[in-house]
Amino acid sequence: MLPPPIRETADLIRRLPGIGPRQALRCAFYILRRPQEREDLKRALENISNIGNCEKCFRAISITQNTAQRLCTSCHDPKRANGTLCVVEEDTDLEQLEKAAVFKGQYFVLGGRLSIAYHPQSIRINELKQRVSSDQNLKEIILALSPTSEGNAAALWLKQAVIESASSSENVKITRLGIGMPSGGEIEYADEETLRGAMKNRN
Ligand SMILES: [Zn+2]
Repeated sequence: MLPPPIRETADLIRRLPGIGPRQALRCAFYILRRPQEREDLKRALENISNIGNCEKCFRAISITQNTAQRLCTSCHDPKRANGTLCVVEEDTDLEQLEKAAVFKGQYFVLGGRLSIAYHPQSIRINELKQRVSSDQNLKEIILALSPTSEGNAAALWLKQAVIESASSSENVKITRLGIGMPSGGEIEYADEETLRGAMKNRN
C-alpha cells in the first residue's frame, strides 16, 4: 500500500500531458528521494503563478507590478509592427519560431491545439478576430499551424473567420507555413532549419 502523499503526487503528475501511470509513479518516487529538486520544483511552481499574458498577443509573460500595459517584448518593439501577424496554437510553437529567428513581425497565441471536431472555449478565436479587425496596417496573416490533418482542416475555418474580421480583407493576405514542414509534424518539435524553410516558402 502506497503512502497517500506518494499516491497523491503521482496522481497529480499523471494529469500532465503525455504522462502515463507508471511514469507518474516513477516521477513521484524520484521527487521523494531528491530533497533539493523537490525544493526547486516547489519554488518554480509557486513562481509560475506570477505569469500572465501579453495583452496584445496573449504570449505568457512575467507580470511585474505597476505596469499599466502588459506587453511582451515582441509587441513592445515598434520594429516588429511591420504588418505581418503570425498565428500560433501554443506558446511552445512561438518559442520555437523565435529560437529559429525566422519571423520578424508580431504574433498571436491561440492558446490550444485546434481541432476540427469542436471549438473549445479555451482557444482565443474571438480575441484573434478582435486583434485582426483592430489592426488597419495588417498586410499578411501567417497561420503557423502544425501540418497535422487536424491542423489542416482547422486552418480552413480559421482562415474564414479571420477573413471575415479583417477590416480591409481584400488587402490582407492569409498564408500558411510552406513545404519543408514534415506532414504530421509539429512546430514545437521542428528544428530551426525546417522552420526557416517553412517560413520562407509560406503560401
Ligand atoms: Zn505580445
